[in-house]
Amino acid sequence: MMPSLTLKPQRQKSLLRRHPWIFSGAIAHVDGNPKSGETVDIFDSKGNFLAKAAYSPQSNIRARTWTWLDEAVDADFLRRKLDTAIIRRDGSETHPYTDSYRLVHAESDGIPGLIVDRYGDVLVMQILTAGAEYWKEILADLLIELAGIKNIYERSDADVRTLEGLEPHSGVLRGNPPEKLIIQEYGLKFNVDIAQGHKTGFYLDQRESRHLVGQLAKDRDLLNCFCYTGGFSIHAVARGAKSVTSIDSSGNALMLGAENMQLNDQPAQIHEWIEGDVFKELRTFRDSRRDFDMIILDPPKFAPTKFQVEKAARGYKDINLLAFKLLRPGGILVTFSCSGGVDAYLFQKIVAGAALDAGVDAQIVKELRQGSDHPIALNFPEGAYLKGLVCRVA
Ligand code: SAH
Repeated sequence: MMPSLTLKPQRQKSLLRRHPWIFSGAIAHVDGNPKSGETVDIFDSKGNFLAKAAYSPQSNIRARTWTWLDEAVDADFLRRKLDTAIIRRDGSETHPYTDSYRLVHAESDGIPGLIVDRYGDVLVMQILTAGAEYWKEILADLLIELAGIKNIYERSDADVRTLEGLEPHSGVLRGNPPEKLIIQEYGLKFNVDIAQGHKTGFYLDQRESRHLVGQLAKDRDLLNCFCYTGGFSIHAVARGAKSVTSIDSSGNALMLGAENMQLNDQPAQIHEWIEGDVFKELRTFRDSRRDFDMIILDPPKFAPTKFQVEKAARGYKDINLLAFKLLRPGGILVTFSCSGGVDAYLFQKIVAGAALDAGVDAQIVKELRQGSDHPIALNFPEGAYLKGLVCRVA
């Protein structure tokens, strides 16, 4: 008999709405001694079948649903899931503009814990959960077959793995991928360090927003905060910004950013890189009365989960308030949050509070999200992690 989890009375509701997560507090008992990552049947308190899920004994999210049908979870099942994810990206509106995009977006593509990013002819795979880890080798073989790509690099080194009791793991998984490669984005080129870079190497989720910033940048003086390898900066310089100043705390990211500027034959003299802490540098600019036509704030996750929301809100308020103060009349603030714990409504409230305290009159002229290669399954609202606002001050 298959190992199983039986839920407490009245705890089946979120599963019936097809939310894929089963929290430890909802479970009455575990039977059959499942191993980490193994597939378990999920029953309600009356013994009715609800779903099949991957067991994760160490995590507070104790199981993640593979399917709501009573069907086998095996290589064939995973083949169908991967095939669907890949077909969904065929003919994407971004394909003419880039060779790099997210091929599998975990829960939102029905494969909890699996992220696959395509960089040209290399796949970078990131395994975040016990369930995806259990099927890793089969998933890698299937990806080679279905995506028609020979090279896979693994970047399973995200912090969240510790919550699942998994060790970090990085390195070549299949074929012979290079550690550094060059990708295309809207006619621009970027160096991506798939071995050492953040996430799987590049913030693919900001592609469309980088393009938008490029379109707004002409003849403006820009400040790009949390610039990483210069994504927004290079789009802006290439589309005719008057000047761009970019700040990041990571020297390695800035070095790659300088290489990217050269790679795109952009004049180095209108661009300045600052290695520093944005919280501090913004205060220095305020004290020296430096101002800008456009400011980008794309900070790291201040609140990975709802438990850090209050501290995160203070962080967002602080940098947004300072940015509003540094904008010239008619200036534009492009501000983001990628915190799972801060939703779009709360983020807008924080930015509104920052404008009020900065004493500026501002409007939202556009709302931004992650690109369509990072879809949000409607049964999984947690997938909507990245939100942005384009604000114009009076
Ligand atoms: N906009 C970028 C992605 C930004 S990711 C792009 O489009 O590629 C967030 C960045 O913030 C990382 O590069 C990280 O090194 C940097 N960072 C984190 N905390 C910081 C701080 N306090 N000051 C400056 N940079 C910081």
